[in-house]
Amino acid sequence: RRLVASSPVASQDLDDLLRGGIETGSITEIFGEFRTGKTQLCHTLCVTTQLPLEQARPGWAEHFPDTSQTLPGHFPAKLWGGAEGKAMYIDTEGTFRPERLCEIAEKYGLDGAHSPRRRADVLDNVAYARAYNSEHQLQLLAEAAGMMSDTRFGLIIIDSATGLYRTDYSGRGELSARQMHLAKFLRALSNLAAQFGVACVITNQAGAPPGARRRAPHGPVVAQVDGGASFGDNKKPIGGNIIAHASTTRLYFRKGRGENRVCKVYDSPCLPEGEATFAIHGAGIGD
Ligand code: ATP
Ligand code: MG
Repeated sequence: RRLVASSPVASQDLDDLLRGGIETGSITEIFGEFRTGKTQLCHTLCVTTQLPLEQARPGWAEHFPDTSQTLPGHFPAKLWGGAEGKAMYIDTEGTFRPERLCEIAEKYGLDGAHSPRRRADVLDNVAYARAYNSEHQLQLLAEAAGMMSDTRFGLIIIDSATGLYRTDYSGRGELSARQMHLAKFLRALSNLAAQFGVACVITNQAGAPPGARRRAPHGPVVAQVDGGASFGDNKKPIGGNIIAHASTTRLYFRKGRGENRVCKVYDSPCLPEGEATFAIHGAGIGD
């Protein structure tokens, strides 16, 4: 059984860049340095995935007047206005905050004041699990599959997908064991996304991608970043090729001017390599 999922993200610029939100049935990786809004976007998506299917974005409906056409069984869907489904949140860093969801839900009228749904429903619609080590992180996918087979889910999030691998396999000789386990995890995840047609978002704390230009704080471009090799080990992307291979869409987050954040499409089968600027608010990701 496959489901339509969608996730508008509520910043006009970002929504336009992503042309309809997060794709269903495949993995979207969000990578970037700390505090760039990866976790905040995940929180926002947990709410927007619950929105009704019929909240279609003007324009989108013209391309796909018959919503049944967008069922992932036909091709990957990116329907606007929500998946009317639950979200699964696998938290490996302990940064999930339910109270953030309540704040965000208010913006979308899901807080009870503007809709018959009660505030509690918003939280009930998010299945949360804390993963304590990489083996546990893998086991949770089996549980997720069980839940998805009898309840409609629109989204699964792994925040972060790589953090536990960093700590579980920190020894010098453990690199290949780490890569093998991570590959196994990503294979299971991508099967889950395809089988249930859910959108799947993984986060990965990582420095600038190869080819990105690094600027001095207030000056001109000073260096070409060499694929991460010049970073300290803690900033090297974990799993490099393995994650790149498993992720269909890759988005790079970085800090912009002031409190702004910038999202760059780093790799995608259908999006141009553009950039979008967004902000982080109490109500989640916005303009
Ligand atoms: P890491 O790699 O460390 O997990 P991250 O990319 O997940 O980082 P987030 O936790 O998503 O980063 O973003 C942190 C940013 O969000 C901080 O700059 C913080 O000030 C901002 N932020 C968090 N909560 C709020 C809020 N309620 N209102 C406005 N901004 C907030
Ligand atoms: Mg985070």
